[in-house]
Amino acid sequence: MSELKKNADKFLDDLMEVYPAKVMKNRKKHVVVKEGAGQEIAANTRTVPGIITNRGCCYAGCKGVVIGPIVDMVHIVHGPVGCAYYAWGTRRNKGKAREGGQNFLNYCFTTDMQESDIVFGGEKKLKKAIEEAVELFQPKAISISATCPVGLIGDDIDAVAREMSEKTGVKILSFNCEGYKGVSQSAGHHIANNKLMKEVVGTNDSPVGKFSINLLGEYNIGGDEWEISRVLSKIGYNLVTTMTGNSTIDEIANAHKSDLNVVQCHRSINYIADMIEEKYGLNWLKGNFIGVENFSKTLRNIARYFGDEGLIARTEEVIAEEVAEIKDTLNSAKEKLNGKTAVLYVGGSRADHYQGLLREIGIETIVAGYEFGHRDDYEGRDVIPYIKLDADTRNIEEITVEKDEKNYSLRIPADKVDELKKEMPIADYEGLMKNMADGSLIIDDLNHYETEKIIEILKPEFFGSGIKDKYIVHKMGTYSKQMHSYDYAGPYAGFKGAANFAKDVEAGILTPAWSYLTPPWNKEPLLKGKVEGVEEAC
Ligand code: SF4
Repeated sequence: MSELKKNADKFLDDLMEVYPAKVMKNRKKHVVVKEGAGQEIAANTRTVPGIITNRGCCYAGCKGVVIGPIVDMVHIVHGPVGCAYYAWGTRRNKGKAREGGQNFLNYCFTTDMQESDIVFGGEKKLKKAIEEAVELFQPKAISISATCPVGLIGDDIDAVAREMSEKTGVKILSFNCEGYKGVSQSAGHHIANNKLMKEVVGTNDSPVGKFSINLLGEYNIGGDEWEISRVLSKIGYNLVTTMTGNSTIDEIANAHKSDLNVVQCHRSINYIADMIEEKYGLNWLKGNFIGVENFSKTLRNIARYFGDEGLIARTEEVIAEEVAEIKDTLNSAKEKLNGKTAVLYVGGSRADHYQGLLREIGIETIVAGYEFGHRDDYEGRDVIPYIKLDADTRNIEEITVEKDEKNYSLRIPADKVDELKKEMPIADYEGLMKNMADGSLIIDDLNHYETEKIIEILKPEFFGSGIKDKYIVHKMGTYSKQMHSYDYAGPYAGFKGAANFAKDVEAGILTPAWSYLTPPWNKEPLLKGKVEGVEEAC
């Protein structure tokens, strides 16, 4: 195992030594060296000011992550131009228009607030923007996302949404996701889930086919959702909707008609998964579409949930067919990469999801962490009742739903669900820490300094994180893979995705470019000579 296991305490002391006492006390709670089970980590708390965090804001979590991927909505960002501009096309959630439908993903809509809007209020401008959007694009629906100043000056975007919805006849959803709410993107996920539950899910009652499922918390980065749904439809499932990669507003509105929710990103979507179960009786199953073993296991769990013999047999056939196509690629990568080590620092789910796939190509994850995970994402959902809510979290609305008498139904009997719960994670998630080896490091809200220190001391060959630290890591001579944008490649989910990932990582770690980082004159003398009568050459 790693350096870390041999000398964990010294490593932590080295990592923390530069901090002032108060900061050290805080950061120590966010770092855990894995040792058995039942360890606690501090998460989802305020970032230390000035520490150079990788975190984003509530608006990024709401509009950028959950709402933005809905293809046929016009997403208006109400605020000064920066928030809309910097989020324009940078998250690679792909989407296609349905036949005869629309796709606005390439656009960037903003009210571009000016000083006068801050002084006199921006509601008028927002109404005008909605009118213009309806006139120019006739969208199926519109979202309004609030940015920092909106809440401070008191613009009532809910009232604007109601008024303009009546006036134009277009569904308008308002999101009070000002960037300062909560402590990270996470608050924005919750706000987006609440609104989708309150105003969208359950408003379309179109019939759905047999074996229908929804994918929750899957955002079609680099085409992931297309690869997953290709395999699902090959087996025989009907995908009603994905939340929210490549989705349309009507499909999300029909989610309650499905038979099962399969959850990929637990952090961003667990709220709505729970609420749909409560209101409509639809179970949710935690899946993992990354890596051959994880994806196969998820497919087998879905088939066992439905309990249909034909589906179970077809699942095995498809797995065998797909694995046969990619196994050589994975094996060849494993031969070359075996024994290398990885650091994974991603938003709220990928640091867990990718460990299996990395293992399949011979790479062991020695450090993992989240920007905005909560304790349950690290320690498993069992800890939820013990999580203390602080003031930052209490500010985010918790909504409750009631059983919908007309549409509530148990898809399979309750005692069967209880039986299945013993074998698979139905309404459960065991978290990132469980599958990590003893001696590995789990670190929450990693910052710039800690990133450098980890690379210096642990010398991993693979650093999977985001754009903000990518080039710093490269300059230190370590291969950095963007695990949010996939370095503009993908898909990485599913079987073909696993092969894509293996090829990209192999190329990244083994590129000859790394051997040119140190100039030759720093490795060996450029001139060699001998002085008469002197033993040593210079
Ligand atoms: S923190 Fe505020 S200003 Fe910055 S991106 Fe988020 S909403 Fe915009």
